[in-house]
Amino acid sequence: MTDPQSPISTLKFESLAVHAGTQADPGTGAVMTPIYQTSTYAQVDVGVHRGFEYSRTDNPTRSALQTALATLEGGRYALAFASGMAATDTLLRLVKPGEHVVCGNDVYGGTYRLFDKVLAEYGLEFSFVDASDLQALQMALRAETRLVWLETPTNPLLRLTDISMAAEMAHRAGAWLAVDNTFASPALQQPLALGADFVVHSTTKYLGGHSDVVGGAIVLNDEAAYERLKFLQNAIGAVPGPQDCFLVLRGIKTLALRMERHCINAVRVANFLEEQPRVAQVIFPGLVSHPQHGLAQQQMRGPGGMVSFIMAGGEAAARVVARETRLFTLAESLGGVESLIELPAPMTHASVAGSPLAVDAGLVRLSVGIEHADDLLSDLAQALQKAGE
Ligand SMILES: *Cc1c(COP(=O)(O)O)cnc(C)c1O
Repeated sequence: MTDPQSPISTLKFESLAVHAGTQADPGTGAVMTPIYQTSTYAQVDVGVHRGFEYSRTDNPTRSALQTALATLEGGRYALAFASGMAATDTLLRLVKPGEHVVCGNDVYGGTYRLFDKVLAEYGLEFSFVDASDLQALQMALRAETRLVWLETPTNPLLRLTDISMAAEMAHRAGAWLAVDNTFASPALQQPLALGADFVVHSTTKYLGGHSDVVGGAIVLNDEAAYERLKFLQNAIGAVPGPQDCFLVLRGIKTLALRMERHCINAVRVANFLEEQPRVAQVIFPGLVSHPQHGLAQQQMRGPGGMVSFIMAGGEAAARVVARETRLFTLAESLGGVESLIELPAPMTHASVAGSPLAVDAGLVRLSVGIEHADDLLSDLAQALQKAGE
């Protein structure tokens, strides 16, 4: 249990989601991994312990979660963090001052803020490019490029990058490829199998799945990079508490089931929105109108639960829709069982306002939950109606 190295398993994803990382507690037989709410561990002799000495370094509940995360992403190692941003920050410590990072220009606003407003002050150089355009990605690579950072699908424009091609390009340039897999989750996409070196997650979203915990993770295969990141996890200390690890672990058990329903509902919602005259454009990888629909089908096992759309009436109309939905709660975040609605420009992406990454003010982002699709469509219909009044 102390070694996060995952067992090579022949189980299907749905079964792994239920069982990965979980084994009956050796002390009591408890079927669910206990919340080891302890900071320290009794040593049997000076410096002799049973794999755990201090909970910043290792905690059994966290170890179980790390094993589960590694298994689901098909990686050898996983490290859990206090948030997605903590995972991202720790990973970026592999890049040294003077080195260069190529980053997709449509990434999570907080990622852009960390790179542009914090890490750039420590001598890291960043280029932000449209990573769905492989030629633009290639052009941005330099001799000093150490890392390529992608989200696919991106947030909030749901653009895709061909992960295999991007990995090949990064590796030819002597750089690593990191993929923020938060939007797809390992149920729909496994970047390590496609050549990525690191998968990063905000486990706050689909992995946790119930909007009740904030967490993050890094999953990888390379042993040397793992040893360094494990050292950094302990040295920096942005670790999750055992209760939070338990919540993510519990959420993971239903990941496959939830993602199935998220995808089915999102398809219904996207098709419905495409027929609405007050909606100028619907952005969803599951629609044939999505410019990368083919890549989505090839790279992902489902289109995901995120749907973005642009109101014909611009920001004013978007604000009415966001205010008037009842079942879709007006809130930031995503990936929970309940449906959420938000306007990226003034909310999640306020940190990129005025930058080249700024998004359309009439853009609405939905995190489609697992309620009955009929109820979701009725709710959107009445809100769109009000936007036309
Ligand atoms: C939420 C999110 C993050 C940041 O994760 P936190 O857990 O909020 O720190 C990073 N990337 C994506 C795609 C996200 O949605």
